[in-house]
Formats: sequence, C-alpha cells, structure tokens
Amino acid sequence: MHTHILPERLPNFADKFGYGDFIHLEHHKKGFARMMRGQFFFREISSNCWDPKVRVGEYLHFQTPVQVVCTIPVMFSYWAKPADCLDLSRYLNDHLAAIVEDFPEHYIGLGTIPMQDTDLAIQELHRLHELGFPGIQIGSNVNQLNLNEAQFFPIFQACQDLNMAVFVHPWEMMGSEHIGRYWLPWLVGMPAETSRAICSLIFGGVMERLPKLRFCFAHAGGSFLPTVGRVQHGFECRPDLVAVDNDKAPRHYLGKFWVDSATHDPQLLRYILEVAGEDKVCLGTDYPFPLGDLEIGTFIEQMNLPESTVEKIFYKNTLEWLYGTRG
Ligand SMILES: [Zn+2]
Repeated sequence: MHTHILPERLPNFADKFGYGDFIHLEHHKKGFARMMRGQFFFREISSNCWDPKVRVGEYLHFQTPVQVVCTIPVMFSYWAKPADCLDLSRYLNDHLAAIVEDFPEHYIGLGTIPMQDTDLAIQELHRLHELGFPGIQIGSNVNQLNLNEAQFFPIFQACQDLNMAVFVHPWEMMGSEHIGRYWLPWLVGMPAETSRAICSLIFGGVMERLPKLRFCFAHAGGSFLPTVGRVQHGFECRPDLVAVDNDKAPRHYLGKFWVDSATHDPQLLRYILEVAGEDKVCLGTDYPFPLGDLEIGTFIEQMNLPESTVEKIFYKNTLEWLYGTRG
C-alpha cells in the first residue's frame, strides 16, 4: 500500500508558472531519468518509476499483483501558489486515474491535494472521490505547519465525510539543513517527521474529533511506536505541556490508526504488530526506491507468523484501511 509513481513526461511547471523549483525530468538515457529540482539534481530514477508494465512484472516476481500508488512527496509542492499547486495536483491525479483505468487489476491510486489552501484542497478531494480514488497521500507537515493546525481540519473532516483514507508520508524533514551529511534527513529526519505528524494529530485532538477518519502512517509510523512509552510518560508527567488540547492519553489511540510494514527488521515488526495491533499493519514497501522493502514482504514470509496474520498484513488490513471494510 505504499509505492510511488510518476508520469514519464512532466510538463516544465517552472516555465509554465514562471517561478519556482518545481521538479522536472531529464531523460538522459533510455530507461533512466534525472529528477531535477530547478537546476539541482534531486534523484536518479529508472523506468520502474513510471512504466506500469515494468512495475507489474517486478511485483509479480514476489507474487504481489496489486500496488497502491501515489506520487513522490517532493511533488507535493505545498510551497507553490495554491492555484498552481492545484494545477500540478490535477495533472498527477489524472495520470494516476489513467493507470488505474488501464490496469484496474494491478493499481489503486492515492491522490495529492494542495494542502496549503483549504478550499482548493477540498475541491480536488471531491474530484478525486468522483474519480473513484479511495484516499489521498499528504505530507507530515505543510510548509512546516503541523497537521493539527485549524486550517487543515476542514480537509480532514471532508475526508471522513467522503469515506476517504489518508496516508501520511514524511517529507521536508525538520532540521534537514543541519543534518545534510550521511543521508541523515532520510535516516533520522523521516522517522521523526512521522512521529511529529502522529503526535500532532493526537495531541491536537484531530483523531479524537474525527474517530472515523482512517489514517495510515509510512515506515511503520516512524519513531512514534518505538518511543510511545516516552510519549505516554510525557503526557502523564507534564500534562500542562502535553494535554492542553486533548485530555486522552496517546496509548488510547493505539489500534485506531494503520501503519505500513516497512521496518527492514523482523524484531521491530513483531513489536509493531503487538503495539499497533495485527489488524493495523499493512504491507508497504516504498518501492521503487532503494530505501524501500524491494523484496516486497519476503522478510515477513520468513518470520513464521500465523497464516491469518500474514493474510491481514498482505491485503486484508489495506482493504480495511482504504475502504473501511474487508469485503
Ligand atoms: Zn515513500
């Protein structure tokens, strides 16, 4: 339920809008492209980042016929002018819708919306709903605003009303400018970002006020679950700092949100299954990127988990997260 995809050809949005470091692609040799952020190199990608047939082939090698696809977080462009971000979001969402239409047995799409503008975000959310998308992907912060800020609540309210699931992915990692070396924004920043998002949604009362909204968090919830003892203790020992907007304890929300399985660590996954609950862990890979689980759950098959647990992780929990039902 956690894979990323891009259109093979992207318009040059910087030229189109006349400003900004929008991502564009340089197809410098067959099957490979450079993602460029303005004039700066961001990441090398290959055809499995855009070619739906190549992806299906690579997945079938691991007996996995269905991928939930969403854009790459660097495409969110929440920093852009809202109308331009809407334009970009619609382009990406139309591309996802076309792939789902062409390969309905292999792809499920999660849309992207301009979170920096509440009205435009809800407008695109309704369009996604009409197109049949079961949910959206959003960033762990929006221009460094936490997800409990009042301006985002109507968007979450609309997701709940439309029965749409929300996948929260870390991006624009806090403190990145101080930790650029050793890939630390990805290794340290991303898990912290995801915990920031979960803590904000709990302490800010969003989960409490929208109990039917189905959140799923990337990378097994980042550092939140491994540090939930500390978070809980902080809530108990300093309620004056922590329990100011919601008096329900963090542990109350365990088992109420979903996480993916991308831990690269059987021992940690066992803990996650115990703490989040075996009904709340979904097979998520972060394919096709190197930090992802590119053997698509093989380590889970080797854990000697009960067959019923493996079935839940491999598809039942994802169906329940996306649609609110396993049927
Ligand atoms: Zn990812």
